[in-house]
Amino acid sequence: MYAPKDRPEILVPVRLDLASTFTFTCELKVACFGRCCQDAQIMLTPYDIVRMKNRFGITSDEFLALYTVPGPIENTELPIPYLKTIGKDERTCPFLDVKGCGIYEDRPVSCRYYPLGAGIFHNRDASEKERFFALVKEPHCLGHGLGREWTVREWIEDQGIPEYDEVNAGWVELILKRKSLGPFVTIPEKTLKMFFMGCYNVDGFRRFVFDSKFLDIYVVPQDRIDRMENDDKEILIFAFEWLKGTLYGEGKLPLRTQTATAEAE
Ligand code: SF4
Ligand code: SF4
Repeated sequence: MYAPKDRPEILVPVRLDLASTFTFTCELKVACFGRCCQDAQIMLTPYDIVRMKNRFGITSDEFLALYTVPGPIENTELPIPYLKTIGKDERTCPFLDVKGCGIYEDRPVSCRYYPLGAGIFHNRDASEKERFFALVKEPHCLGHGLGREWTVREWIEDQGIPEYDEVNAGWVELILKRKSLGPFVTIPEKTLKMFFMGCYNVDGFRRFVFDSKFLDIYVVPQDRIDRMENDDKEILIFAFEWLKGTLYGEGKLPLRTQTATAEAE
């Protein structure tokens, strides 16, 4: 869920759906402006990293080294980068400046959702996923009850979230699948490293695909290869597909004939 999980008391215990409403505003003139960017624990999704590293004109390897620390995804051993904060006590986001968010157009999806927390519930009986939301009410945030009324759907559109959700969908699926397997399944260290590279280090994964024997092993349509060479979204979505086969044996990419024959021998 895109919400501070270590502080469940700030989540209003009412489950919201896309049609639910809340009243909120966040403007420079609000006395608490920027307060939510302190004491920040921001988990970064794959597409967050793509947007920020491209904004800064650096590689994903450099972005990860400069701005993140690794942590686990809740209730799994799957890794996720957290934004590295500044100051021992304040733990301020490095991108906060005097005018507010210094990377506003490319801010992470959890900042976009705020003051909503968002999650996905995997309904095993119905074999389908259900999105749910909750209002995050932190004492320092003075925006609640001010400004206009929003539906959750309007907020999501207004904050530019659909593009993030669309690109990150395969990553969310990998996490939900891992959670559904329960605590007695373990994923080898080497596979976890592959997961980290495929999900968060898009430039590293591109090198892995194009500078290794990857394309001699797997059949990938040429038009897709061409798109993946330069388009970060394309290679990210491809990485999620490949990881689904590598982690869970589902939807494996077809092997070239000689590789498949060698495997069978
Ligand atoms: S604390 Fe709330 S109202 Fe204040 S800047 Fe952050 S989101 Fe806006
Ligand atoms: S990325 Fe921007 S909105 Fe998010 S915590 Fe940092 S300064 Fe605040």
